[in-house]
Amino acid sequence: MLNPFEKLKIPPKVNDTVNVMLKRLPKISGSSVKDREIRRLREYYERVEKYYKFSIDFPRVEELHPFYLESIKIITDINDLKICLSITKKSSMISMRILRKYISEIKKQPESEANKLMREAFGRVTSVLRRSSQCIDKVISIAGELRKLKTVDPELPTIIIAGPPNVGKSTLVSKISTAKPEIANYPFTTKEIHVGHIILNDIYIQVIDTPGILDRPEYKRNKIEKKALNAIRNLSGIIVFMFDSSISSTLSIKEQIDLFEEVLSTNKIIVPVINKIDEKYDEYYNKIIEYLASKKVKWYEISAEKEIGLNELKEELFNLIGVNKTNEISRN
Ligand code: GDP
Repeated sequence: MLNPFEKLKIPPKVNDTVNVMLKRLPKISGSSVKDREIRRLREYYERVEKYYKFSIDFPRVEELHPFYLESIKIITDINDLKICLSITKKSSMISMRILRKYISEIKKQPESEANKLMREAFGRVTSVLRRSSQCIDKVISIAGELRKLKTVDPELPTIIIAGPPNVGKSTLVSKISTAKPEIANYPFTTKEIHVGHIILNDIYIQVIDTPGILDRPEYKRNKIEKKALNAIRNLSGIIVFMFDSSISSTLSIKEQIDLFEEVLSTNKIIVPVINKIDEKYDEYYNKIIEYLASKKVKWYEISAEKEIGLNELKEELFNLIGVNKTNEISRN
């Protein structure tokens, strides 16, 4: 499935359009004054029409996949967006009507009136657009943000890598998929969702590295954390939850467990993985396995960096996601 925002033509911000038009005016010439002023207004018309088309082509909010809907809700209130969309449509329609009216007026009036009429039209349209510019620009920036999510395909089988900051999510994604996210040794490395693919014959599996999510209540979460949870809740797939067993862990074991419990409450298939086994700190490691054993869940012990235990993990993930050894999606 294509990102519904990928093909959307996003116009420039209102002020940019007005400024470009102001600079263009002296450069537009014609065979007569009338002809020149008509050309000027026609060019303005073409630029304004882009806002109209944009408002019409903006995907219908009601028809969006929950992943995209949630992405919008993280950025803005849905009702505000709808209001701004209708303001964008209305003000561009009004502007286009004004321009059409003045173009036909210039045609009818004597040559001596042409420049005055052009300036009048220009002023009126500019003020209509400027009055709505806050709203129009808001829709433009929302569309821009949503287009950036183009790599996430909600229809593909998905493996979501979750866990506290700095646990090794990006490292794991880069080791088991085609993605090459930046990896750095400090928390909050993962500012945006990284997407990689594993291709088994012709079957694409999407591997998503969620931004570091912290162990804290929903209302305190920032946008990055909300994006991560959106992916977890609204993409269909399985979750790999990574625990950090090293001394450098950014969260305490209790915090890691609380976070794991929260992810468990999403009712998805979750594969617990203990990472940094190459540098495991016994006290932490023992607490993690004690907890997982009490939950009666099967877990995997890996070192993403040193590539220990990755084959077993991959095998399990393919089984769970329904891609078996013969590389076919299971029909069950
Ligand atoms: P993310 O924030 O969860 O995406 O974590 P990163 O993948 O950016 O890794 C954070 C740090 O942990 C980096 O310095 C990695 O090199 C290191 N790291 C990742 N996996 C391992 C591992 O298995 N063992 C050890 N010792 N370090 C690791």
